Amino acid sequence: METLDPPDWDSFARIAHDAVDRAIARTAALPGRPVWRPIPQAVRDGLRQPLPVDPTPLDRVVEDAWGGVLDYPMGNTHPRFWMWYMGASSLTGALADFLAAVDGSNLGGGNHAAAECEGQVIDWLRQIAGFPEGASGTLTSGGSVANLIGLTVARNRMARVDLREEGLAALPRPLRVYASDQVHGCHQKAVELLGMGNRALRRIPTGPDCRMDMAALTRAIDEDRAGGWQPTCVIATAGTVNTGAIDPLPAIADLCRDRGLWFHVDGCIGALTRLSPRHAPLLDGMDRADSLALDPHKSLHVPFEAGCILVRDAQAHLDSFALHSPYLDPALRGIAAAEWLLDWGIQTTRGFRALKVWMMLREHGTARFGRIIGRNIDQARRMAAGIDAHPRLVRLSPVTLDIVCFRYDPGGLDAAALTALNAEIMMRLQETGIAAFSDTTVHGQHGLRAAICNHRTTDEDIDTALAAVVRTGDDLALAATHAGPA
Ligand SMILES: *Cc1c(COP(=O)(O)O)cnc(C)c1O
Repeated sequence: METLDPPDWDSFARIAHDAVDRAIARTAALPGRPVWRPIPQAVRDGLRQPLPVDPTPLDRVVEDAWGGVLDYPMGNTHPRFWMWYMGASSLTGALADFLAAVDGSNLGGGNHAAAECEGQVIDWLRQIAGFPEGASGTLTSGGSVANLIGLTVARNRMARVDLREEGLAALPRPLRVYASDQVHGCHQKAVELLGMGNRALRRIPTGPDCRMDMAALTRAIDEDRAGGWQPTCVIATAGTVNTGAIDPLPAIADLCRDRGLWFHVDGCIGALTRLSPRHAPLLDGMDRADSLALDPHKSLHVPFEAGCILVRDAQAHLDSFALHSPYLDPALRGIAAAEWLLDWGIQTTRGFRALKVWMMLREHGTARFGRIIGRNIDQARRMAAGIDAHPRLVRLSPVTLDIVCFRYDPGGLDAAALTALNAEIMMRLQETGIAAFSDTTVHGQHGLRAAICNHRTTDEDIDTALAAVVRTGDDLALAATHAGPA
C-alpha cells in the first residue's frame, strides 16, 4: 500500500543522520563563513521548476535542498548579523522543531502532553514577565500576532458595546489608541485589521531619547475625550525597534489607571531583558500591564516562529476569542477531554511551537539567557564607545538595550550624499560578507543600525565590523574626492 512513510527505513535513517551531521558542521563553521552571499542565477533558476508530478529519491531531494536553498540563507545565524531585530536560531531549537513535527500534535487543543507543555511554557514566560498567577497567555507565530491579540482584547473589553456581536458600527464614539511615533508597524496593521483604521492610532511625539513624551500623551487623551473619541488603550513600547528606547512604563501605567485606559506593552524587544538582573530595573512597570506581547524567537533565539501574548485578566482574553462550535464539544474522557487552546487566539490548527521554547529554557536555564542578553547590551555599549571615540563616526541615538544607530560622516557632505554614502557602506559590507547592518532614520537623520540580538556575537566581532565600516567609508569618501568635478 502506498503511504508517505519511507519505503526503506534504514535508508531514510542514513539520509536523516547525514542531514543532522551536516547541519551541525555548518553551524560550528558559521564564524568563518561570510554573513551572506548573493544567490547565483543558477540557484534562482533551480527554484523555477515545473510542478513535480513524479517522485524524486529523497537523497537527491535533500542534496538539492542543501545546494539549491540552504546554502544561501538570510544570514541571521551568523555572529555578525545585526539587521532589523531577530534571533540567531539554535541547534537545540532545530532539534525541538524536528521532534515537535514527529510528535505531530495539533495544538488547537486536545488531551495530550504537547498541550500541557505549552501551558508550562506560557507559565514560565508569565513568571519571566512578572505577571501574576492566573494571567492567561498563548503562543503565537510572533510578536505581530501577539500584539494583534492583545489589542483585540483591549478593544473588546474597553468598548461599551458587544463588538463581537454588533461590530464597530454600534460604537457611540470611535475608539482611539495611543503609541509613540516610534511604534512598530504591526500596530498600524492591527488597528487596520480591527476595523478602527490607522487614524485611530494616535502617534505621540518622542524626545531626543526616543521615549514617549508623557505631557503630550496626557494632552492627547484629554483632547480626544473632549473631541468625541473614546480613549481606549496606550501601547507602551519596551524596546523600540528603531533605537531600543523604553517608554516611561510606570508613568504610563499610572496614567492608564487614572484615566481608565487599557495598558498594553509591546515587549517584543525588551521584555525578556528582565532575565538580566543588571538590566531588569529598566523594565519596572511592565508587570503592571493589562497585556504584554513578547517574542521568544528574538532574545531566546528559538527558531522562527514563536511569539507570546500574556493577558492579566484571563476572562477578558477568553471573552474575545472563545467560541462554542458543536463539532468541538469537550468530552468527559479521551482525546477531546481538554480545554480548547484555539479559544485564546486566531488560529484553529496550531503547531507545537512550545517544545523548542521548553527544551531551550531547560537546557540553558534562564540565568544563561540573562547573561547573553546582558552581554549583547554590553556589546552595544562597546560599539557606541568605539563610535564616540572615532572622528568620522557619529552616534544618532542613546543606547538603552542592544541597538546602536550611527553613521559615517567624513564632513562636508549634504544630507542626501551622506545617506547615499552610508547606504553604500551597508550594502558593501553585506556583499563582501563581513557584517550585516541595516539602515534607518532617527528623528530625520539617516544612518546605520546594529541590533545585536545574537548569542554568537563576540566582542571581536564588534571591533571587526566597526573597523570595516570606517575602512569602507574612507575608501568611498576618498574615491569620491578623486572622482571630483571634471
Ligand atoms: C519584532 C517586533 C514586532 C513584531 O514581531 P514579529 O515577531 O516580527 O511578528 C513588534 N514590535 C516590536 C517592538 C518588535 O521589535
